[in-house]
Amino acid sequence: MDYIEFLGTSGTRTPNQGTTCLRVSKHCVIDAGNLINALGDDVFTIEHIFLTHSHLDHIIDIPFLADLFVTQQSISLKIYALKETLDDLRQFIFNHRIWPNFEEINLIGHTDKTIELIEINLDQKYTIDDVTLTPFKTNHTDGSCGYLIEKNAKGMLFTADTYKCPKIWEILDQNPHIHTLVTEVSFPSSFDKLASDSKHLTPTLLEDELKQSKRNDFTVYAMHLKTLFAPTIIHELKNMKLLLNGGRVLHDSDRIDF
Ligand SMILES: [Zn+2]
Ligand SMILES: [Zn+2]
Repeated sequence: MDYIEFLGTSGTRTPNQGTTCLRVSKHCVIDAGNLINALGDDVFTIEHIFLTHSHLDHIIDIPFLADLFVTQQSISLKIYALKETLDDLRQFIFNHRIWPNFEEINLIGHTDKTIELIEINLDQKYTIDDVTLTPFKTNHTDGSCGYLIEKNAKGMLFTADTYKCPKIWEILDQNPHIHTLVTEVSFPSSFDKLASDSKHLTPTLLEDELKQSKRNDFTVYAMHLKTLFAPTIIHELKNMKLLLNGGRVLHDSDRIDF
C-alpha cells in the first residue's frame, strides 16, 4: 500500500459514518473506530492495531474483533498503546464484566491468546510491513498520542484527538519530509469552552496552532468533526483558509498517497 486509507474519519458514529480508523499497511491500522463495517471479511488481514488513546470512538471495534478472531484466527491480534491506554483496556473493557478477558483466552485450536496488549514508548519507532510509526505525546487524555507515519522517506503527521500541542509543530519543523498533516477539528470556533474542556480543536484554535510552525508547505487535512456541527466547521475552515495546499475535510474511505 502506497497510501493511507481512512476507514473512519468522523467524530460521531452515525449510520453512514465511522469513527477514527486509519489503515496504514495491509496488516496494520491506527485506532479501531470502524474496522468491521469498513473492511468486511478483509478484517481478518489486520494483525496490528496501534491506539492513540482509550476513548470509545477509537477502540469500539476491538472487543467485537476479539470475538470474531477467537474462532477464526490462528495468531494473536496485537494491540499497541501507551501504558495508560493498556491499563484502561484491561481495567474497563477486558475485565470479565464488560467483556471476556481475551488476553487470557486461547484462539480455538491454537496456543496463541486471542489478543496481545503491547506497551509502546513515546518517540520510539515501530515498523510494521514497510511503514514506521512513531508515537508522540498529545494534549488530550492521560496516555494519549498521535503518530508520525513514515514510508519511503516520506512522512505524514496524524494528530489524533488533541488540544493545543506544541510538540506537533516542533516535529513538523524538524522533519521537512513530512508533507501532510492530518488534524482533528471537533467543534466550531464558538464552542471554544467545550473544546478546551474536552481537549479538542476548533478552527480558531487550529489557526493559532498553525502559526506556531515556521513551515507552510505541508497539506492540511481535517477529520474527527462532530457531525452536527460539520457544515459550520467546514465553512470556517474554508473561510479561514486553514486547509493548506489543497487539503480537505476527510470522509470515510478517502485515501492519501505517501
Ligand atoms: Zn478522544
Ligand atoms: Zn475521538
